[in-house]
Amino acid sequence: DLRDGLRAALRDPMTGLFNRRFALPRLARIARSSVENQAPFAVMLADLDHFKSINDAYGHLTGDAVLIEAARRLQHNMRPGDLIARVGGEEFLIVLPGITAAEAAKAAGCLCRRMNGSPFRVHGLSLGVTVSIGVAPGPATLPPDTSDEALAAALIDRADRALYEAKDGGRNQVTLATTAA
Ligand code: GH3
Ligand code: MG
Ligand code: MG
Repeated sequence: DLRDGLRAALRDPMTGLFNRRFALPRLARIARSSVENQAPFAVMLADLDHFKSINDAYGHLTGDAVLIEAARRLQHNMRPGDLIARVGGEEFLIVLPGITAAEAAKAAGCLCRRMNGSPFRVHGLSLGVTVSIGVAPGPATLPPDTSDEALAAALIDRADRALYEAKDGGRNQVTLATTAA
């Protein structure tokens, strides 16, 4: 029915998480209301480590099962108002309104441990899976005429650069963005 159609437009069918198309405008909205309310918020990008090698070793279907379990673990403990979306193949966007940089770093650390803390049991296998997370704490200072698209892109870019540092630093870790947006 109509609701199924709407759901398909907003959600990634495999993991059930929101998709990129839904997430980016929503991210912009959270950022704007945080600036208005002078409240902090944090944008995170979480990317599974060496995910390609899971596909290569065990096949694409096992890779899919790992993605579904990763999404389940990331979603755990999310509060109402938090946003989590699958924005790339094995990349997830998490937006936490109302939390400081220190709290965001702690939350990201928890997410890392939720991945690496116990093996993924999929298709009769027991797989060690880790994630790298880039965290960009807000609020961002932006010119008032910035479009939603540009705002979301700038925030994601900050988190993405932090994510790159987490990968470069050896993966299975969290890096905070240092520069302001
Ligand atoms: P890194 O630690 O640097 O992130 O390495 P990586 O292997 O995770 O990253 P890379 O970008 O090299 O590979 C990502 C892989 O994710 C390649 C692609 O085939 C796979 N992938 C993307 N979407 C899906 C999907 O829906 N299912 C499965 N099984 N694999 C996917
Ligand atoms: Mg990866
Ligand atoms: Mg990736």
